[in-house]
Amino acid sequence: MTQAYQNYIDGQWTDASDRARTSNLNPANTREDLGTFPSATRADAARAIDAAQRAFPSWARTPMPQRGEILTRAADWMHARRDEIGAALTREEGKTFAEARGEVARGVSILRYYAGECLQPTGEVYPSAGAATFLFAERVPLGVVGLITPWNFPCAIPTWKMAPALAYGNTVVFKPAEITPLTAWYLVSAFEQAGLPPGVLNLVVGRGSQAGQELVENGQVKAISFTGSNQVGTRLAATVAQRGGKAQLELGGKNPIIILNDADIARAVELTVQGAMLSTGQKCTATSRAIVTREVANDYRDALAARVKQLRVGDGMQSDVYMGPLVSADAEKTVLEYIALGKNEGARLVTGGEKLRGGEFENGFFVAPTIFDNVTPDMRIAQEEIFGPVVSVLQARDIDDAIALANHTRFGLSASVVTRDLNLALRLIREIEAGVIHINSMTAGAEPHVPFGGTKASSSGLREQGKAAREFFTEWKTVYVDPL
Ligand code: NAP
Ligand code: MG
Repeated sequence: MTQAYQNYIDGQWTDASDRARTSNLNPANTREDLGTFPSATRADAARAIDAAQRAFPSWARTPMPQRGEILTRAADWMHARRDEIGAALTREEGKTFAEARGEVARGVSILRYYAGECLQPTGEVYPSAGAATFLFAERVPLGVVGLITPWNFPCAIPTWKMAPALAYGNTVVFKPAEITPLTAWYLVSAFEQAGLPPGVLNLVVGRGSQAGQELVENGQVKAISFTGSNQVGTRLAATVAQRGGKAQLELGGKNPIIILNDADIARAVELTVQGAMLSTGQKCTATSRAIVTREVANDYRDALAARVKQLRVGDGMQSDVYMGPLVSADAEKTVLEYIALGKNEGARLVTGGEKLRGGEFENGFFVAPTIFDNVTPDMRIAQEEIFGPVVSVLQARDIDDAIALANHTRFGLSASVVTRDLNLALRLIREIEAGVIHINSMTAGAEPHVPFGGTKASSSGLREQGKAAREFFTEWKTVYVDPL
């Protein structure tokens, strides 16, 4: 018997009003069913929103240090179960166990960081024109917030939204991606076990077009923090804005690694492979373009191809596997379509390019790590987010051309530069349009205490994590106090 999981509304584990259930399958082996999950309807999401609304006044009045203690207890609960949660994450999403365990550890760090934020100042005191006036401004919670998250970081992304939302006194309705509900179940369980009062955090597992749409349209939801595709995100933000709500969007990327003449080629290859192939390329910050100056282009391409051919692909639970499967049949189909498109557009397939079949691959969504060379800037494989283990290599004439190529995209999430030349690095830091820049490290990676997010079409511009998260999850209340 597979386990039947439920939604969490008003402190109760509960079935959806629609009895339909969805199986959570392992993308490395679809014969493995990790349990069935409810399909929350709009009515279920509305009930969750009502519960969050009722819980808000008392949670907002709960002293912040007390809220912080609950975050700490949730962190402790997760830390104690990091292997179990990491294994669940690998089995439902596909990334390797080492990465999954790292993601859970990151979730724990995020919770601990925001527990610490619960002891930080909540406002500012200002001088006043009135001689005896005590003038201050305080950051206060918004009310009910909706969190809509993707499947690719099913622990870290919900945590970096939930932790600040709760720490700053909001109540939450959480709609995880329908295909990674088990990690969401663990996260919400952590808060339940930590003693979070009923209604403060609610979980609705279901489709975006149902449960998600209710969060977007319901006037009680003051703000939506969304991470996902541009298509869904921009539409959602327009709807939320129309009813006077607030929306934060973290969207796609087409992140470049830029390799300059003086780069250590072996290091550049390693950073490309890490950035492009870890998590099977399914990170918003994954490396999907390699921009390399002409003099070193052939050496780099050959070394990259040789390294990529060595990568062991397989079930992420096996310790020698570098790259797991894609998350779903749909994801696999999209990636294979882009590979076919790249060939049709005239790019040269250097290595990979096919679905892996037979033996251990038979029941999973495995695609070989893929490198395209001779990619020109306007090809669709150089412009569109593929979200898979595919790198497009573009040659640059010189530094100016490398910068122009890097910026020749509607996205601007992250970028990486490989060089020993400090002057060049400083110039690229200034001129590259990206929210996050790495000099001599891979395009992916985000520490919990610093602002994270993109520019251009990659983000709404309201940063997540660190102190930046307070901007979104609170608003100012300005107070003039005068003696009578
Ligand atoms: P997606 O299809 O946009 O889904 C994201 C979330 O939105 C899911 O929970 C989805 O629900 C929900 N949703 C779908 N339609 C909705 C609607 N009409 N109303 C409300 N919610 C709705 O994105 P994805 O394919 O899961 O994730 C991959 C994308 O996320 C990539 O583009 C990637 O770059 C981006 N991403 C960005 C960042 C970042 O920080 N910038 C981080 C990670 C991922 P269901 O799918 O469950 O139905
Ligand atoms: Mg699954």
